[in-house]
Amino acid sequence: MSDSISKRITVAPGDGIGPEITRAVLDILDAAGCGLEYDTIEVGERAYLSGNSSGIPAQAWDTLRRNPIFLKGPITTPQGAGYKSLNVTIRKTLGLFANVRPCRSFHPFVFTQHPNMDVVVVRENEEDLYAGIEHRQTVDVYQCLKIVSLPGSEKIIRYAFDYALANGRKKVTCLVKDNIMKVTDGLFADTFRRIGKEYPGLQQEVQIIDIGTARVATQPGRYDVIVTLNLYGDIISDVTAELSGSVGMAGSANVGDRISMFEAIHGSAPDIAGLDVANPSGMLNAACMMLTHMGMGEHAERIQNAWLCALEDGIHTGDIFREVTSRQRVGTQAFAQAVIERLGRKPATLTAVRGASGAIPRYAYVRPTPRRDLCGVDVFVCDDKHTPDELAKILIEATGKILRLKLITNRGVKVWPEGFDETFCTDHWRCRFVSPNAPMGDLRASYEPIERSRLLSLMQALDDAHVDTIKTENLYLFDGTRGFSLGQGE
Ligand code: NAD
Repeated sequence: MSDSISKRITVAPGDGIGPEITRAVLDILDAAGCGLEYDTIEVGERAYLSGNSSGIPAQAWDTLRRNPIFLKGPITTPQGAGYKSLNVTIRKTLGLFANVRPCRSFHPFVFTQHPNMDVVVVRENEEDLYAGIEHRQTVDVYQCLKIVSLPGSEKIIRYAFDYALANGRKKVTCLVKDNIMKVTDGLFADTFRRIGKEYPGLQQEVQIIDIGTARVATQPGRYDVIVTLNLYGDIISDVTAELSGSVGMAGSANVGDRISMFEAIHGSAPDIAGLDVANPSGMLNAACMMLTHMGMGEHAERIQNAWLCALEDGIHTGDIFREVTSRQRVGTQAFAQAVIERLGRKPATLTAVRGASGAIPRYAYVRPTPRRDLCGVDVFVCDDKHTPDELAKILIEATGKILRLKLITNRGVKVWPEGFDETFCTDHWRCRFVSPNAPMGDLRASYEPIERSRLLSLMQALDDAHVDTIKTENLYLFDGTRGFSLGQGE
């Protein structure tokens, strides 16, 4: 076990089936000799209903800070407005940057259409469209900002490679849409290729998310570890969980630099709560990820192999019970006992789990120091009265001596110079201004540095001409390389 992580952990039994599966899992951990100590916190429905809008009482944060390893049962989010997602609150507040979700099939003991599937999705957990920065800018147009950072990308990609190495995986696939989002998804793909060079023993590939998702859904057996951005990861990890068989089987980890949270992927299943029929396997697998994370890979291996033996022996909870593949239908606690009885055994047919080598290292981000030159500005304008040519004329007359208008786009499509009459236009225009040395409306003109004072003069001139500006986005060169996408036709 790693020296830095104590054996005292935080446990939240949660709601619905949470307390029964938590009891079953802790019984197994204790019987396997993990020697953990537990501090229990109450999060979820009772906390929400007692007036805590994010479902976690103030004192629970102190426990989490003290015992940074957190095993969490599923919780019920009460219906109605005003309740914030506990998971999102915990992830963002505590910097849990990696969401790790292994999904494996247990053919022929658990029914699945994909017998060879054994995929781990490593999803970036803090950035992307989930930054939650949205605006309505004009009557017609709404915007959600997609934020992808260099440290965020480095962290999750290194984590995925290190996870692959520590868990004996062979290949890491990066899923992106960098053919369209060349700056943001392009950064993620470039970071993957750059950092990948440090892991020559692992196969590596970059795939476009659309075909990648189609292939994950139809041929999951060809994937091993997948690393991807937040939104794609959210979708793709649900696809893999659905493909693997039962929602009751998979665990997941939310990993941070200091604090990490482990839980089943399923919810609190209120329909079967208190009946002792729930499958504790999802939470058990999450607990094994926790042990591995704590550097207790040998304990995780022992427990998971005993669990595989119980599955092979046909000891099944109701959700995976089938006349053909099962021998005995058992409840939650009896299943836990079946796992405990098999501790020390290895499965005969299913691939045995080999313990991960230990805790995954933390990363120090070293910020590069490129030269950053301002070379223009995109001014977003609200206008529902003029054609693109008329708008260009107004802008040029107002600003021609300060900066040169290079192009105007509407929803990303070039409408000036030489727009098409057929292009549908909203009331939201992106007007790109560049150095006054560039020829007017010249799409081929290269970008060159400008003085910052010109931006203020430009905004004043636009205001004087009664142009309704919504926002500006500065254009920068980083060591001479564009830090922005080109407009169509540029
Ligand atoms: P759910 O996952 O709780 O249940 C979906 C179906 O799967 C139900 O039929 C349920 O009986 C079954 N099921 C789930 N886990 C099972 C298990 N371990 N063994 C056997 N069967 C199992 O999803 P839901 O019904 O959409 O959500 C119920 C509540 O859980 C909601 O309040 C939701 O907000 C919450 N939820 C919490 C989490 C979490 O805490 N991480 C995740 C998802 C949903």
